[in-house]
Parts: sequence; structure tokens; C-alpha cells
Amino acid sequence: MKTTTIAVHAGSHKDDIHGAINQPIYMTSNYRLPTDGSPIDWSGINSDIYQRNRNVNQTVLQEKLCALTGAEDGVVFGSGVAALMSVFSTFLNTGDHAIVSDVCYKATGLQFRKYLPKKYNIEVTMVDISDTEAVRKAIRPNTKLIHVETPGNPTTCIADLEAVAEIAHANGALMSVDATFAGPICMYPTKHGADLEIHSMTKYINGHGDSLGGCVLGRKELIDEIKELALVNYGGILSPANAWLISRGLATLPLRMKQHCDVAMKVARFLESSPAVRFVRYPGLESHPDHERAVKYMENGFSGMMCFDIKGDAKAHTKFLDALHLVTHAVSLGDIESLIVYNDDSIKEMAYYPEIFKAGFFRFSVGLEDADDLIEDLQQAFEKAGIA
Ligand code: PLP
Repeated sequence: MKTTTIAVHAGSHKDDIHGAINQPIYMTSNYRLPTDGSPIDWSGINSDIYQRNRNVNQTVLQEKLCALTGAEDGVVFGSGVAALMSVFSTFLNTGDHAIVSDVCYKATGLQFRKYLPKKYNIEVTMVDISDTEAVRKAIRPNTKLIHVETPGNPTTCIADLEAVAEIAHANGALMSVDATFAGPICMYPTKHGADLEIHSMTKYINGHGDSLGGCVLGRKELIDEIKELALVNYGGILSPANAWLISRGLATLPLRMKQHCDVAMKVARFLESSPAVRFVRYPGLESHPDHERAVKYMENGFSGMMCFDIKGDAKAHTKFLDALHLVTHAVSLGDIESLIVYNDDSIKEMAYYPEIFKAGFFRFSVGLEDADDLIEDLQQAFEKAGIA
């Protein structure tokens, strides 16, 4: 079956009692246990005992995610950060070494630069993950995990997944990939060697900006380990109601991604041609330093994430943001509506970004609006900011 069909039908859970076509939301903490003497799986990771171990709406969502990505198994959490931490805490032990993208989501950066080394004595090398040789050089005998974020948040740098997977596996390490910026339709990390694929489902997978969630996808034996430690015994579960909302969002992901990609490509080309713009980074543009890799690894389009900056002083930047009508100044990404956030030169992470970013830049999550309308909105904002 094709992706659009899978997204609608996989994991579908109809109600046999009333005939409801939509899956019910199972707001139950407990499940009835057998009283006929049949065995009970007390580890509870693959049976219904208690909502923290497993719940029906989670399972439906996991099935849809696996069907769409081809992953053998999956587990969902209450946020993307909980999903990331489930991987780091399950597969890293005291004294282990991890290699991590230096361009990464703030919480990932903090974990590896601060908390994991300080609290658990984990050794960390942060590298430019798009530089495969730097990854190879960073390997140590105790390297247990290479954590890749691609496209990297915010700069959209792209890793050579197959080459990094080869380095990881040749040295007995696992490779995890946070592909939140691409979403599961634009990139399939597990098909290119990743052992674990992670997404903040808050972004493209849900898409509607109304609930947080995270997922980890991969081989069953790895997912079972994560479930046992991080789901059941750390407890950051996804509620049935949010699992339901995210499953509903996921059903339209292939259609939404197509629109995000088409619109973003047109908007990126407009920005690149505008005299008001200092630079633009979008993996779909030939000018992107990792464009060739993007063509290889983003097989269904280049997603909706880009960065750019305008030519103008601080006042012009403020005026530009204030003049936008369709695009909202807000964090997060991957929503149906366009969101933009300004990263000024005071943010700490700036040190890890390429030179062109260092004066400050906008991270732009292109929504599902019509490209012409967005371009008109950007153009009138450039004019009001006095830079057109
Ligand atoms: N990973 C990436 C690449 C992100 O951009 C984010 C959030 O912006 C996260 C993980 C964390 O996701 P959540 O906010 O759902 O915890």
C-alpha cells in the first residue's frame, strides 16, 4: 500500500461494541487481569495491565508509526525530550562515551554538555555531525552511542547517515537519529543504518500544535529495553487523549508534508532572490552546503524548516516581525500554521553555528498556507521594515 493509505488505515482500531469508526479514547488507569489462571506478564511492557505500562491509544499510535516508517517496533512518550532521554538513559552507563551533533535541540545540548557528564560521568564529544571525518576521529574504545540530529536544529545541517552508521557499527556503538526537523515521511533514518529513530511528535507528526509527544522507533529488542526502563520505570508516558490527537494528526502527515515541502521550496526561492535577505539556508536549495546529502536522504521532499536573516539593524528586525500577519513569532515548529522565531546573537548555542548565523537569524517553520500568500506577507513586512 502507498503511504497515504497506510497513514489512514494502519493501527486503525474500531469499536466493536457500538460500531464507532473512530478509535475510542481509553481513559482507564487499570485493565482487568485474567482470573482463569492464565499467565500475567508482570513486566507489563507488551500487555495491558496499567496505563503506564501500555495503553490502547498508545499502541494504535505505535502501530501507525511503525507501518509508516517500516520500523520493527516503537514506543511513545509524553514529549520529544522524554523520548530522547529514554534513549540516552537506556543505552549510556557511567564511564561510557557518546558522540553528539554539536548543532542540536537545546535540551539535547544541555544533557550532553552539562547533566550527563556531571551527574553520570558520561564522556561526551560534540562534533559537527555533517563532518564525517570529525565523527570518525572522535571514536574512543568506550564509545557506545553516536547521537545524530539531522537536519540539525536550527541550522539544517545534514549528516551522511550511512557513513556515520558504518562508523558506529564498526566500533560496537549504536546510532540514534533525531529526525524531528524532517518528520518520518521526508526521511527514513532506520533504512539508512540508524538503530533508533527519534521524533518530537509535537511537531510534524501531530502537526496541529495542540499536544506534546515523542517517539522512538527501531528493532524490537532495543525498544523493549527502552520500554522496561524509561517507560515503565521512569514513567514519562503519553496520555491516551494526546495519543488519540497525535494519531489523528499522523493520519494526514503524508498530505501535510507534501504541502509543507512544496510551499517551503517556493518561499525559500523567493527569500533567496530578495534583496532584503542576507542569507537563506534550506536543504532544498542548491546553495545549501549539504544539498547533495539532502537529495539522498530526504527522499520525499525537504520539509518545511529553514533559516534566513534580513539585511537591517535590530529595529528593522523588530519591525519585520511585528508587520507579519500570517506568520507568528513563536517557538515550536511543524504546525499547520507558519511560525518564525528570532535567534539573536546573545543565545549561547550561537558559538556552535556556522559564521553566517552568528549575527542573528530567523528560524522559519513554513506551514500549510498558500505559497503566494506567505510570499506576499513576507514582502509587505520587508517593506514596512524599510528593507525592501
Ligand atoms: N528534538 C528536536 C529537533 C526539537 O526541535 C525539539 C523541540 O523543539 C525536541 C526534540 C523536543 O521536543 P518536545 O518539545 O516535544 O519535548
